[in-house]
Amino acid sequence: MICIPIIANTLDDVLRDMAEASKVADIIEVRLDYIKNPDLKHILEKRTKPVIITNRPCREGGKFEGSEEERIAALKLAIQLHADYVDIEHDSIQHIMETTVHHPPASKTKLIVSYHNFRETPDNLISIYQKLSQCGADIVKIVTYANTITDNIKIYRLLQQAQAPLISFCMGEYGIISRILYKRFGSYLTFAALRKGKESAPGQINIHELLHVYRAQKQEKDTAIYGLIGNPVSHSISPVIHNTLFREMNFNSIYVPFKVDNVADFIREFRELDVKGYSVTIPHKESVLNHLDAIDPMAKKIGAVNTIVNKDGRLVGYNTDCRAAIQALEDINQVSATGAKNDRLKGRHVTLLGAGGAARAIAFGLQERGAQVTIVNRNYERAQSLARDVGCLYREFDNLPEIKTDILINATPVGMFPSVNETPIDKNQLKPDMIVFDTIYNPLETKLLRDAKTQGCKILGGLPMFINQAAAQFELWTGVTPPPELIRKIAYKKLVGE
Ligand code: NAP
Repeated sequence: MICIPIIANTLDDVLRDMAEASKVADIIEVRLDYIKNPDLKHILEKRTKPVIITNRPCREGGKFEGSEEERIAALKLAIQLHADYVDIEHDSIQHIMETTVHHPPASKTKLIVSYHNFRETPDNLISIYQKLSQCGADIVKIVTYANTITDNIKIYRLLQQAQAPLISFCMGEYGIISRILYKRFGSYLTFAALRKGKESAPGQINIHELLHVYRAQKQEKDTAIYGLIGNPVSHSISPVIHNTLFREMNFNSIYVPFKVDNVADFIREFRELDVKGYSVTIPHKESVLNHLDAIDPMAKKIGAVNTIVNKDGRLVGYNTDCRAAIQALEDINQVSATGAKNDRLKGRHVTLLGAGGAARAIAFGLQERGAQVTIVNRNYERAQSLARDVGCLYREFDNLPEIKTDILINATPVGMFPSVNETPIDKNQLKPDMIVFDTIYNPLETKLLRDAKTQGCKILGGLPMFINQAAAQFELWTGVTPPPELIRKIAYKKLVGE
């Protein structure tokens, strides 16, 4: 079930938001602590969906500033008025239980006993759950703050062990996945904001995204999980691309962003969730290799993985960036001695900016096609090391004007959203006979490409490479090739709203 909290200060706004939320949510949470002089009777009379009444004190992250007696009195009144649910904090539940008001025989109200931790996800969740489940409440709620992605696994384990209905997830950016995957995790419900700015807790995603990107209502216990490992991940368009492909191609699968700091911890802990496949992005494409069970020979040669497939519990790494970039370059670079597509890059002088995961994939692909590659990277030792592995040249940024360049490739994040006015190379170094390829796809046209256009260069943005690699990735996971045109359409809509 999906619950929308009502975050409004006046009765009129509460009733308006309740009506709007009731069209899409299964349950509405009325936050009395936000409302000035709440008319509880009127609010409950106007409900068309089950309602949770909450009156959160400041100590538990709420807004109620009156006395504890007043706060509890409002919750007792909610029970007398037959609210569907009342949420009562774990350290206040005895006030409800001690009185005759609690669960009078005629009351239909279900009691939710809640524990919130805004600092961390403690290790003793099971003992907290056991304590709370002995209070006599109908439903237990345990909400913690995730300081790292693996905190979600603590919540997953708790939900797997719980005997009675339990609402549990992590707050904060690292905890978003526990909110999205609530059915797979086994939580009684999840919360979603009515719209941006109406969040009642950190990390709460909005109902539109939950329903339309993540198709939360279609999620089942056996929905296959896929996801993106990276940091940052919040601006990636991969969740929209892969979730739309899953929907359009009738897969019972979901794709979520995993914000990962420590890839070793992540891979080890998330094996338990049986994630069926991953995309890998900045900065983990190289470091992830050491934590997989097998690596495809090309990915091994490149030394970078951007795709992981779970084959019966064994995590196998692949690289779809290499073929994707070369294909995009061959499509645009029509100059060739023989006319054969495979020869289009032969003998061409390519200057490659960057020596990270993407640069490694592109450098090996170019070398295989017979291009003359020169690596230029901020960290000179890294450029040297990649050039040695590939068998090509390497130079310093200062040497750029002297390097013969037919094709210039940016494989650094310089110019990527939100730093859209940055460029890795001075405009004057771009010459009209060059092809300039920026691997960045957000924005679709970077400052580097805008400069290159004004200098008369032929330009190639990162989108064709992105489409090629996403299609290859989807095929590796599912065995089905998605139509590239569909990926292009979804990406365009997401990036430019067309
Ligand atoms: P990565 O492994 O983290 O490598 C980043 C590279 O960029 C490193 O060589 C790093 O240099 C360099 N760099 C970072 N910040 C820099 C700065 N401020 N100035 C100069 N150099 C800088 O990342 P990656 O996975 O290779 O991704 C790199 C780029 O490729 C990203 O923009 C990404 O969007 C793009 N990409 C696009 C696609 C696509 O499908 N279109 C696919 C993959 C990647 P140091 O070694 O000095 O740190």
